[in-house]
Amino acid sequence: MNQDRRSFFYTLLHSTFGIAAGTILASRSSYAKSRRKTTQPGLVLSTWKHGVAANAAAWDIIVKNGAALDAVEAGARLTEANPEGRSVGLGGRPDREGIVTLDACIMDQHGNAGSVAFLQDIKHPISVARKVMQETPHVMLVGKGAQQFALQQGFRKENLLTEATRKEYQQWRKKSQYQPIINIENHDTIGVIAQDQHGNLSGACTTSGLGYKMHGRVGDSPIIGAGLFVDNEVGAAAATGTGEAVMKTCGSFLIVERMRQGASPMQACKEAVLRIVKHQDYRDMQVAYIAINKQGEYGAFSIRPGFPYAIKSHDLDTLQPSDAYVQK
Ligand code: ASP
Repeated sequence: MNQDRRSFFYTLLHSTFGIAAGTILASRSSYAKSRRKTTQPGLVLSTWKHGVAANAAAWDIIVKNGAALDAVEAGARLTEANPEGRSVGLGGRPDREGIVTLDACIMDQHGNAGSVAFLQDIKHPISVARKVMQETPHVMLVGKGAQQFALQQGFRKENLLTEATRKEYQQWRKKSQYQPIINIENHDTIGVIAQDQHGNLSGACTTSGLGYKMHGRVGDSPIIGAGLFVDNEVGAAAATGTGEAVMKTCGSFLIVERMRQGASPMQACKEAVLRIVKHQDYRDMQVAYIAINKQGEYGAFSIRPGFPYAIKSHDLDTLQPSDAYVQK
């Protein structure tokens, strides 16, 4: 059965047989972590603890019958604007030269994509990425060009290095040791993936990247297929953690393709993690994935424990730890 017909078949089952159909669907994959409990679509997944607030902002839009694209952008923007967050937007950790550089990307239900990387002095890279998607013939703008485009679009320049982050950076400079810390509190990229009440999928991913990275370094977060991938027929996935490992395995694309072949979101995330640990030295590394599919199932998996992800649906509003490859 092709994907369109399969989606149609599941939708028909849902709408015709309600809970009974849910039971049939539940047996479709032995790896299903969880599933939609109502027949009405609507689901948001976000990375880390800051995902709870991001989900709330996204859900406000979804529950009013808004588009998943608007929802994921709103969720990401909330995190970008929070000066307490050390890994996204305002207040994000700088690179080793003391400069905050931001990466972000966004994808909609039509397979459109927009991305910015190495962007400076603009608080909402996710919205610039959306403008790249909607207002240009390109997918990705970087550095000065991305900033110039943002200014043309009406964004304004502001200093993103807060006093607190500047002090931490000066402290770091005393030793200048580059050691990304695994799972520290208040850490990491926000990835938001959502299905709206019309059943459509979108995703957003935004970050200041690894703290004290080399000047010019770009991670996985703005790379379509690495930090984020959405296919409205199948599902959506987002990544957080050591971007180099995610990029080398096209992590989010891999997850969506495995879901296309029938893997549950949880199993697909696990397989993407296994792809990393098989070939790369993962001892000092954390990578985590979240995924949702068209049927409203969700899942997550990380290399090591300590990765929480936030879930919001008609029935759920929770932060829960993902399963992990390394057991402690
Ligand atoms: N994935 C991000 C990067 O490599 C960092 C993170 O999620 O912590 O830039």
